[in-house]
Amino acid sequence: MTVHLLCARGPASLLNFCAVTLALFVLWPAPASSASRKFSTVVIDAGHGGFDRGGIPRQRVAEKAMTLDVAQRLQKRLRQAGYRVVMTRDSDVFISLGERVRIASRYRDAILVSVHFNSAARVGANGVETYYYSNNSAQLAADIHRHVVSSTSTENRGIRRRGYYVLRRSSVPAVLVECGFLTNPTESRMALDSSYRQRLADRIADGVMGKPTPPNRPVVAGLVHLPSPIRSTGNYNDFVRAEAERRPTYRKGSSKKSSKKSKKSSSKSAKKKSSSSETKKKKKSAASDE
Ligand SMILES: [Zn+2]
Repeated sequence: MTVHLLCARGPASLLNFCAVTLALFVLWPAPASSASRKFSTVVIDAGHGGFDRGGIPRQRVAEKAMTLDVAQRLQKRLRQAGYRVVMTRDSDVFISLGERVRIASRYRDAILVSVHFNSAARVGANGVETYYYSNNSAQLAADIHRHVVSSTSTENRGIRRRGYYVLRRSSVPAVLVECGFLTNPTESRMALDSSYRQRLADRIADGVMGKPTPPNRPVVAGLVHLPSPIRSTGNYNDFVRAEAERRPTYRKGSSKKSSKKSKKSSSKSAKKKSSSSETKKKKKSAASDE
């Protein structure tokens, strides 16, 4: 599963940096001191690994490598901020989804942040989307998503509720971030840039720390907006309905072009459509376990 910037800091800005650091201490409470953020442990879950490359067949950039790199950067950042950080994997190994959840469940005062990059057969598909399942994960999802989206030039695909295994089975608040599409030429190029991956990690960390969220960036047109399950300041309207399917959306037979064709369909193609819908269902259930 996929997402993305940084400011160069010149030596002259050391004083500013100190002032900002001081301000941060005042504005942003230390871990576990905030009433709404009673966790001291962050379990970071780098998606995929080992024989599971992630993404779709023939995808050039391996998702598992990108997720691990962002996860390790995030780990460093959060440790520096004083959190205990646990990694579900810290190398290129396969870890089952059940084991990922078991690791997170060992900690009571924890959250789980699963890092993924997205993929689609339609190369134009792009943008950042963030998933949660339980209501007590919605605030965390919004915080992370809004920070990540603010640092990218790619599309805001909204915050979505979906029962991915690690979200559904987690006993602690859990969020899954899709940091952008590795199948999109622009986003895969960005993901291959280490400064961009660092920016992704920094922004995810900002969300975890509950830093004030940046101004809203509208979500991409065409998504169905849902009422916000959380109370938040700012003009956000970024909770959207998760589409019925993720990857299969862009597969053969489901694009706009082919849906036009299907209007003219004969009974033969209707039959074909029905079998493609069964395939979709299978693929959907596979995607739910990401
Ligand atoms: Zn993934």
